[in-house]
Amino acid sequence: MARYIGESCRVCRREGEKLFLKGSRCYTDKCALARRAYAPGQHGQKRKKQSDYGMQLREKQKAKAFYGVLESQFRKYFEEASRSKAVTGLRLLQILESRLDNVVYRLGLATSRAQARQLVRHGHFTVNGVKVNIPSYLTKVNDEIKVKEASQNDEIFKQIVEATENGRPVPTWLEANLASKSGKVVGVPAREEIDLPVQEHLIVELYSK
Ligand code: SF4
Repeated sequence: MARYIGESCRVCRREGEKLFLKGSRCYTDKCALARRAYAPGQHGQKRKKQSDYGMQLREKQKAKAFYGVLESQFRKYFEEASRSKAVTGLRLLQILESRLDNVVYRLGLATSRAQARQLVRHGHFTVNGVKVNIPSYLTKVNDEIKVKEASQNDEIFKQIVEATENGRPVPTWLEANLASKSGKVVGVPAREEIDLPVQEHLIVELYSK
Protein backbone atom coordinates (compact mmCIF):
# COMPACT_ATOMS: atom_id res chain seq x y z
CA MET A 1 0.00 0.00 0.00
CA ALA A 2 1.51 3.33 -1.04
CA ARG A 3 2.28 5.95 1.53
CA TYR A 4 4.50 8.99 1.99
CA ILE A 5 7.83 7.93 3.51
CA GLY A 6 9.66 11.27 3.51
CA GLU A 7 10.80 13.11 6.60
CA SER A 8 7.70 14.21 8.55
CA CYS A 9 9.10 17.39 10.10
CA ARG A 10 10.14 18.63 6.66
CA VAL A 11 6.47 18.50 5.65
CA CYS A 12 5.44 20.65 8.62
CA ARG A 13 8.21 23.13 7.91
CA ARG A 14 7.21 23.27 4.25
CA GLU A 15 3.59 24.01 5.20
CA GLY A 16 4.55 26.36 8.06
CA GLU A 17 2.13 24.56 10.41
CA LYS A 18 2.42 21.92 13.07
CA LEU A 19 0.71 18.89 11.56
CA PHE A 20 1.47 16.57 14.50
CA LEU A 21 2.96 13.79 12.41
CA LYS A 22 5.38 12.43 15.02
CA GLY A 23 3.34 11.68 18.10
CA SER A 24 4.51 12.89 21.50
CA ARG A 25 7.60 14.63 20.09
CA CYS A 26 5.29 17.19 18.46
CA TYR A 27 4.21 18.43 21.90
CA THR A 28 7.76 19.04 23.12
CA ASP A 29 10.38 21.70 22.40
CA LYS A 30 12.12 19.13 20.19
CA CYS A 31 9.54 19.95 17.50
CA ALA A 32 11.52 20.93 14.39
CA LEU A 33 9.07 23.70 13.53
CA ALA A 34 9.49 25.26 16.96
CA ARG A 35 13.26 25.29 16.39
CA ARG A 36 13.34 26.29 12.73
CA ALA A 37 10.11 28.02 11.77
CA TYR A 38 10.88 28.38 8.09
CA ALA A 39 10.63 26.17 5.01
CA PRO A 40 13.42 23.65 4.44
CA GLY A 41 16.02 24.06 1.72
CA GLN A 42 18.37 26.77 0.51
CA HIS A 43 15.65 29.35 -0.14
CA GLY A 44 13.44 28.37 2.78
CA GLN A 45 13.89 31.65 4.63
CA LYS A 46 12.90 33.85 1.68
CA ARG A 47 9.39 35.28 1.73
CA LYS A 48 7.34 34.20 -1.27
CA LYS A 49 4.11 35.69 -2.54
CA GLN A 50 1.65 32.92 -3.26
CA SER A 51 -0.78 32.82 -6.16
CA ASP A 52 -4.39 31.68 -5.60
CA TYR A 53 -3.47 28.35 -7.15
CA GLY A 54 -0.44 28.08 -4.87
CA MET A 55 -2.59 28.67 -1.80
CA GLN A 56 -5.15 26.09 -2.89
CA LEU A 57 -2.43 23.57 -3.60
CA ARG A 58 -0.76 24.12 -0.22
CA GLU A 59 -4.07 23.57 1.61
CA LYS A 60 -4.57 20.29 -0.21
CA GLN A 61 -1.01 19.14 0.47
CA LYS A 62 -1.43 20.00 4.14
CA ALA A 63 -4.61 17.93 4.43
CA LYS A 64 -3.00 14.98 2.65
CA ALA A 65 0.02 15.07 4.95
CA PHE A 66 -2.13 15.46 8.07
CA TYR A 67 -4.06 12.26 7.32
CA GLY A 68 -1.21 10.46 5.53
CA VAL A 69 -3.20 10.04 2.32
CA LEU A 70 -1.78 10.02 -1.20
CA GLU A 71 -3.22 11.90 -4.17
CA SER A 72 -5.31 9.16 -5.80
CA GLN A 73 -7.04 8.21 -2.56
CA PHE A 74 -7.54 11.86 -1.64
CA ARG A 75 -9.12 12.55 -5.00
CA LYS A 76 -11.50 9.59 -4.49
CA TYR A 77 -12.55 11.01 -1.12
CA PHE A 78 -13.17 14.37 -2.78
CA GLU A 79 -15.34 12.77 -5.47
CA GLU A 80 -17.32 10.90 -2.84
CA ALA A 81 -17.75 14.13 -0.85
CA SER A 82 -18.90 16.08 -3.91
CA ARG A 83 -21.60 13.47 -4.59
CA SER A 84 -23.08 13.93 -1.12
CA LYS A 85 -25.77 16.50 -0.31
CA ALA A 86 -23.66 17.98 2.50
CA VAL A 87 -21.18 20.84 2.10
CA THR A 88 -18.37 19.27 0.06
CA GLY A 89 -15.43 20.62 2.10
CA LEU A 90 -16.90 19.52 5.42
CA ARG A 91 -17.96 16.13 4.05
CA LEU A 92 -14.41 15.60 2.74
CA LEU A 93 -13.00 16.18 6.22
CA GLN A 94 -15.61 13.90 7.78
CA ILE A 95 -14.66 11.10 5.40
CA LEU A 96 -10.99 11.58 6.24
CA GLU A 97 -11.81 11.58 9.96
CA SER A 98 -13.72 8.31 9.63
CA ARG A 99 -10.67 6.37 8.37
CA LEU A 100 -9.83 3.59 10.78
CA ASP A 101 -6.24 4.79 11.32
CA ASN A 102 -7.51 8.26 12.25
CA VAL A 103 -10.18 6.84 14.58
CA VAL A 104 -7.58 4.67 16.34
CA TYR A 105 -5.40 7.76 16.79
CA ARG A 106 -8.30 9.94 17.98
CA LEU A 107 -9.34 7.25 20.49
CA GLY A 108 -5.86 7.43 22.00
CA LEU A 109 -4.93 3.90 20.93
CA ALA A 110 -1.91 5.20 18.99
CA THR A 111 0.38 8.20 19.53
CA SER A 112 0.28 9.34 15.90
CA ARG A 113 -1.64 8.54 12.72
CA ALA A 114 1.51 6.94 11.30
CA GLN A 115 1.70 4.61 14.28
CA ALA A 116 -2.04 3.91 14.05
CA ARG A 117 -1.61 3.00 10.40
CA GLN A 118 1.16 0.57 11.22
CA LEU A 119 -0.72 -1.04 14.13
CA VAL A 120 -3.85 -1.47 12.02
CA ARG A 121 -1.84 -2.94 9.18
CA HIS A 122 -0.27 -5.42 11.57
CA GLY A 123 -3.73 -6.68 12.46
CA HIS A 124 -4.00 -5.49 16.08
CA PHE A 125 -7.55 -4.11 15.76
CA THR A 126 -11.06 -5.42 15.34
CA VAL A 127 -14.13 -3.51 14.15
CA ASN A 128 -17.36 -4.96 15.53
CA GLY A 129 -15.43 -8.07 16.55
CA VAL A 130 -13.90 -8.71 13.12
CA LYS A 131 -10.19 -8.18 12.44
CA VAL A 132 -9.61 -5.27 10.06
CA ASN A 133 -6.09 -4.52 8.81
CA ILE A 134 -6.95 -1.82 6.30
CA PRO A 135 -6.03 1.68 7.59
CA SER A 136 -8.30 3.34 5.02
CA TYR A 137 -11.37 1.36 6.19
CA LEU A 138 -14.13 3.94 6.68
CA THR A 139 -15.86 3.56 10.03
CA LYS A 140 -19.54 4.34 10.59
CA VAL A 141 -21.64 5.47 13.53
CA ASN A 142 -22.03 2.61 16.08
CA ASP A 143 -18.86 0.81 14.95
CA GLU A 144 -16.87 -0.58 17.88
CA ILE A 145 -13.11 -0.55 17.55
CA LYS A 146 -10.97 -2.65 19.86
CA VAL A 147 -7.42 -3.90 20.30
CA LYS A 148 -7.79 -7.63 19.60
CA GLU A 149 -7.61 -9.99 22.59
CA ALA A 150 -4.21 -11.43 21.68
CA SER A 151 -2.66 -7.92 21.63
CA GLN A 152 -4.36 -6.51 24.74
CA ASN A 153 -1.30 -7.06 26.97
CA ASP A 154 1.33 -5.98 24.46
CA GLU A 155 3.84 -3.55 25.93
CA ILE A 156 3.27 -1.10 23.08
CA PHE A 157 -0.39 -0.64 24.03
CA LYS A 158 0.47 -0.19 27.71
CA GLN A 159 2.82 2.63 26.71
CA ILE A 160 0.29 4.19 24.34
CA VAL A 161 -2.53 4.14 26.91
CA GLU A 162 -0.22 5.65 29.52
CA ALA A 163 0.72 8.48 27.14
CA THR A 164 -2.94 9.07 26.23
CA GLU A 165 -4.09 9.19 29.84
CA ASN A 166 -1.67 12.07 30.35
CA GLY A 167 -2.70 14.04 27.32
CA ARG A 168 -4.90 14.25 24.24
CA PRO A 169 -8.65 14.60 24.79
CA VAL A 170 -11.00 12.31 22.83
CA PRO A 171 -13.46 14.21 20.57
CA THR A 172 -17.16 14.02 21.43
CA TRP A 173 -18.07 11.99 18.31
CA LEU A 174 -16.07 9.10 19.76
CA GLU A 175 -16.32 7.23 23.06
CA ALA A 176 -13.09 5.76 24.36
CA ASN A 177 -12.59 3.08 26.97
CA LEU A 178 -8.87 2.95 27.61
CA ALA A 179 -9.24 0.22 30.26
CA SER A 180 -10.50 -2.21 27.61
CA LYS A 181 -8.47 -0.53 24.85
CA SER A 182 -11.58 0.03 22.83
CA GLY A 183 -13.89 2.74 21.59
CA LYS A 184 -17.03 3.46 19.67
CA VAL A 185 -18.03 5.89 16.93
CA VAL A 186 -21.06 7.71 18.35
CA GLY A 187 -21.48 10.53 15.85
CA VAL A 188 -20.08 12.52 12.96
CA PRO A 189 -17.56 15.30 13.71
CA ALA A 190 -18.61 18.92 13.37
CA ARG A 191 -16.06 21.25 11.74
CA GLU A 192 -15.01 22.78 15.07
CA GLU A 193 -14.08 19.31 16.33
CA ILE A 194 -11.64 18.73 13.47
CA ASP A 195 -8.31 20.33 14.31
CA LEU A 196 -6.99 20.27 10.75
CA PRO A 197 -5.47 23.72 10.08
CA VAL A 198 -6.76 24.15 6.51
CA GLN A 199 -9.36 26.18 4.68
CA GLU A 200 -11.14 23.29 3.01
CA HIS A 201 -13.03 25.56 0.59
CA LEU A 202 -9.67 26.20 -1.13
CA ILE A 203 -9.31 22.44 -1.73
CA VAL A 204 -12.81 22.37 -3.21
CA GLU A 205 -11.91 25.31 -5.47
CA LEU A 206 -8.74 23.55 -6.60
CA TYR A 207 -10.51 20.34 -7.59
CA SER A 208 -13.43 22.20 -9.15
CA LYS A 209 -11.30 23.89 -11.83
FE1 SF4 B 1 5.63 18.52 12.76
FE2 SF4 B 1 5.71 17.00 14.93
FE3 SF4 B 1 7.93 17.36 13.48
FE4 SF4 B 1 6.91 19.35 14.97
S1 SF4 B 1 7.77 17.41 15.71
S2 SF4 B 1 7.65 19.54 12.88
S3 SF4 B 1 4.68 19.01 14.71
S4 SF4 B 1 6.06 16.33 12.82
